[in-house]
Amino acid sequence: MARPDPTAPDSCPVCESREIRAGGIFSLPGFIRCRNCGLHYRKDLDSILQPNQVYESDSSSVQRLIEEEPLRKSYYRSQADRIESVVDFRGCLLEIGCGCGGLLAELASRGWSVEGIEPSPFLSAVAEKQIGNRGIIHKKDFMEDGGSHCSRTYQVVIAIDVLEHLVAPQVFIQQVSGMLPRDGILILQTPNVKSLRRFIQGAGWEQYRPDEHPLLYSSKTLRHILTRAGFIMLHMKTISGTAVESNGRSRWLRGVQKVLNSLHGGNTLWVACRKAAI
Ligand SMILES: [Zn+2]
Repeated sequence: MARPDPTAPDSCPVCESREIRAGGIFSLPGFIRCRNCGLHYRKDLDSILQPNQVYESDSSSVQRLIEEEPLRKSYYRSQADRIESVVDFRGCLLEIGCGCGGLLAELASRGWSVEGIEPSPFLSAVAEKQIGNRGIIHKKDFMEDGGSHCSRTYQVVIAIDVLEHLVAPQVFIQQVSGMLPRDGILILQTPNVKSLRRFIQGAGWEQYRPDEHPLLYSSKTLRHILTRAGFIMLHMKTISGTAVESNGRSRWLRGVQKVLNSLHGGNTLWVACRKAAI
């Protein structure tokens, strides 16, 4: 049986299995792989305090997000369509980590009552401008106060590309659960560590960014976290492509991506779940 790295946590931080392994052809450099739930996590996870401060400063990542925002219109429309495919009402929605606010703007235009939380002062300023008087942007770090500055409950909470930045996803999910009423909907999106691209590209995979993404999830990992926190799974799928519009995507490539996603091998996991009765 594989022997875990003695300097690393001795069990999976999500499912607590001791069936963990560092190294091997399926592992990413510097990461441990849980053979039970499929989570990949940094070996030094226990010593990470704040993994994601890149968006706090006026970094190149922030500048890129702002510059590319006008190119994401189609992506935001697709995201809103996905949300509305599982939520058959238009109510009060909170997006945690709303970035430049483009998705909230799209949802507001469809009749949703929207709020967003965004810690980056640069991104939240853009979001405020986009939303105007159609919603509220909270310039806060959700992980610092668990959303306690938000004084209401929401029918829908979404967190797109947030989970991979956290070191304690279970805490995050519990806090989000506290903001939802019974039957409230939670929607998450995060890179798929079991995607075909990750297997092919290995450490060259664009989501392999240890400084920003200390945890990388499989569908099984997400299911484990969410069901343990009292959520009922509604929909789990993978999606492909990038947020930035690309006119170069051929019909052939779209066909390949469709097949890939039918096998849950797409680059990104997308999940919707409902808070069960307590
Ligand atoms: Zn695990």
